[in-house]
Amino acid sequence: MADPRDLHIVVIGAGMGGLGTALAFAKKGFKNIDVYETASNLGFVGAGIQMPPNVVRVLDRLGCWEEIGKEATNVKETSIRQGSTDKELAHVEMPDVAEKYGYGHFTGHRASLAGGLYNGCKKESAIKFHFSHQLVSVDSYDPKPKLTFKPRDGEPFQVEADIVLAADGIKSVTRTQMLALLGTHSKEEDTGQAAYRIMLKREDMQHDPELLRLIDSDTVVRWIGPKRHIIAYPVSDHTIYNLSTAQPDSNFAAATNATYTTKGSKSAMLKVYEEFCPLVQRMLDLVPDGEVCEWKLRVHKSLPTWVHGCVALLGDACHPTLPHLSQGAAMAIEDGAVLAECVSRAPDADPATLAKVLKVYELLRRDHTTALVDLASYSGRVLHLGDGKAKEERDREFAQNGKTGSVPDKWASPDVQKMIYSYDCMKEAETKFDELYQSLAS
Ligand SMILES: Cc1cc2nc3c(=O)[nH]c(=O)nc-3n(C[C@H](O)[C@H](O)[C@H](O)COP(=O)(O)OP(=O)(O)OC[C@H]3O[C@@H](n4cnc5c(N)ncnc54)[C@H](O)[C@@H]3O)c2cc1C
Repeated sequence: MADPRDLHIVVIGAGMGGLGTALAFAKKGFKNIDVYETASNLGFVGAGIQMPPNVVRVLDRLGCWEEIGKEATNVKETSIRQGSTDKELAHVEMPDVAEKYGYGHFTGHRASLAGGLYNGCKKESAIKFHFSHQLVSVDSYDPKPKLTFKPRDGEPFQVEADIVLAADGIKSVTRTQMLALLGTHSKEEDTGQAAYRIMLKREDMQHDPELLRLIDSDTVVRWIGPKRHIIAYPVSDHTIYNLSTAQPDSNFAAATNATYTTKGSKSAMLKVYEEFCPLVQRMLDLVPDGEVCEWKLRVHKSLPTWVHGCVALLGDACHPTLPHLSQGAAMAIEDGAVLAECVSRAPDADPATLAKVLKVYELLRRDHTTALVDLASYSGRVLHLGDGKAKEERDREFAQNGKTGSVPDKWASPDVQKMIYSYDCMKEAETKFDELYQSLAS
């Protein structure tokens, strides 16, 4: 019987999901992992990211948390405030997250998370990176998947794999081609929302005692208002204050571009938040002209399948989410860890067996990720309420400060945190794999 660890694993995309997947397979002893990435390097994404306990647990097991954690902020509390007045609507303490779930809740720089995963990969001789290689087509799905890649400065060539793991993000070519082959397609849902991502330097904030208090804190702050909000937290050892916003998408709605990001105008950004309090205005005013970047926020309707033959989708390719629950990258990294658990348990290396094993991964992940994507959408709706009865009710709930076990901002809600943070995706794969595998007709 062939050893599954000899399988040729091809990962498409070196984003959070692709890096996590390659590392998880290498840690399971797989010897032949190729990662193809269209960009010429990891790229520098100038934005922060929240790293909740459910993903820190995975990163620790993959051996890369120590490096990432060094400059991360261990979040101790969250403050939800009325955007227009800065009045606190809810204050939820999170002192015992690590005690309850084994790991704390952290914020960090995206470059630090990606860099930590990449450095982990580079220590594994089994992983080979192929930057500047774009997946052009998936030519077959079984018994052995075949893919065509186009190097930036070369001729297209074909690669044969045993298993293909497509972590090619929200614009996934793999998803589009897989679903087209199956006679269906993925319907894009218009979220109607866009986001500015902003990083303020400590030296630009330190003249202002109120701003200094924010960057020195261990607090995630959300300023909310009708149809818009801002979430902010310190990263990189409190040297950078990260702001991420959500507002009505007026610029992309007018003219969508191919990358779904655009250089925004500072005056337009200030206008969007003109009703917000002076504290917020002072921060937005620190953004240098010409450095405003806006992202269109997109999701998809639930896909009919994530797997076809020996090809599986993961991360944003199959369950893109609004960012309001801070779980998108976490879910992508978890997917990779679960895939590695499942494939390493394959009873043999026959393509039919491998296709079944990939289906087990989908069964393990689909309901959980769907629930989180729905909660993120729900949070967006509740956070963005305008004046009226629903908002009054929401603010009454906020005023309980989570003491009832629930907060309308689901990110900060103790019951939701319990559900997400205590979820050990690798352990679940370990315990449920055999039963799920047997349940699939051969
Ligand atoms: C404003 C905002 C805030 C967010 N905040 C958080 C947060 O706090 N916490 C959190 O967990 N998540 C957060 N997310 C979500 C998170 O960023 C994504 O869910 C996550 O990055 C998805 O990872 P991925 O690997 O699936 O896709 P991506 O990171 O998009 O990676 C896809 C990779 O595939 C490559 N690629 C694409 N097409 C091809 C091709 N044809 N051939 C080869 N390579 C290809 C791309 O270049 C890219 O490197 C946020 C998202 C947004 C928009």
